[in-house]
Amino acid sequence: MKKYDWITLVYVGGYHLGLAFFLPLYFYFYTPSLFLILSMVGLVFACGIGITAGYHRCYSHPTYKAHPIIETILLFFGNLATQGSALRWAYEHRMHHAHVDSDRDPYSINKGFWHAHVLWLFKARPEIDEKVISDLRRNPLVVFQHKHYVPLLILQQILTILFFGWLSQDLLGSFVFCYLLRSFLSHHTTWFINSLAHSWGEQNFSKEHSAVDNFIISLLTYGEGYHNYHHTFANDYRNGINWYHYDPTKWLIFVLSKLGLASNLRRMNSEKIQFQLILEHKKELLKNLKQSLYDSKEDLIDRVHKQADALTKTLEDFIQKGKRYKEIGRDLKEMKNLLKREIRTLKSKLKFEWRNWDNLSDYIYKLKKLA
Ligand SMILES: [Zn+2]
Ligand SMILES: [Zn+2]
Repeated sequence: MKKYDWITLVYVGGYHLGLAFFLPLYFYFYTPSLFLILSMVGLVFACGIGITAGYHRCYSHPTYKAHPIIETILLFFGNLATQGSALRWAYEHRMHHAHVDSDRDPYSINKGFWHAHVLWLFKARPEIDEKVISDLRRNPLVVFQHKHYVPLLILQQILTILFFGWLSQDLLGSFVFCYLLRSFLSHHTTWFINSLAHSWGEQNFSKEHSAVDNFIISLLTYGEGYHNYHHTFANDYRNGINWYHYDPTKWLIFVLSKLGLASNLRRMNSEKIQFQLILEHKKELLKNLKQSLYDSKEDLIDRVHKQADALTKTLEDFIQKGKRYKEIGRDLKEMKNLLKREIRTLKSKLKFEWRNWDNLSDYIYKLKKLA
């Protein structure tokens, strides 16, 4: 078996060298027009979205269904991003999720930051295991792109340079900014998801894998920086679950669904997320306390258990009452009203218990800092 993927190595290495040579040279003789810079930014963003909304959230994890027109646009820009076909990308990404951090993870962070970031691309890649992507084999658009990936890519790259060169009347500028620099920015922002989003940030939802949540990475990766959440609940079309989380891919999918261009949006229900949070935080607090030397640690351990149980119980009651409310018919108006009041009370209780839980967590972390 081959050891290295020479074509990828020469291509990626080649355009990096080309950029290092042509970019300073260009700046020495010329100044790029604002149009050229904006075109490059637009292309980087479109390629990024092609990968996140297309390759990742539509194909690797089918978290929603895109209209064929949207699929075609996403595949067009995904192709231009030069990261292989959606089929191969999805295969490798599914392997990454199924075997994260192990030897079978193609871009395992345990093999080092640079391996996860880019070096894994230069190793000879194994054959696609058809069982893993059998659903995608039934998608004619994905199969077409996979079959014609290279000629399509060459054509797209040439046409992109010529098109923006013609619009800006600056062919060299188009080559430097809309091809070389765009490729560089587009590649590294995606690669950050495999390197930085597995090494720099917080693990709120699970510590069973190396993925982390980091707002700054989200800014660079079109919302993919909430990677700890994503690895914990990969079937959610969102990566940033709160409305204020910067996740343009999620916003795009949501808007497309409102326009009738995307459907079957999958999202993890909020209660399941809360259960996971309680479980994870409880584990973390107990671990901290067990390693500590505080005199009153037994009392605190007891409080962690009691407050976690109370929170879980209230959450369960809240879910039960909500289910019951939906089940009973409209004719039982009084019972419905009674349940509505109980649900409202439980909601306040839940908020109160979450606040208490956060206070207890803060207190334990402060003790740790003082120790
Ligand atoms: Zn990952
Ligand atoms: Zn994923």
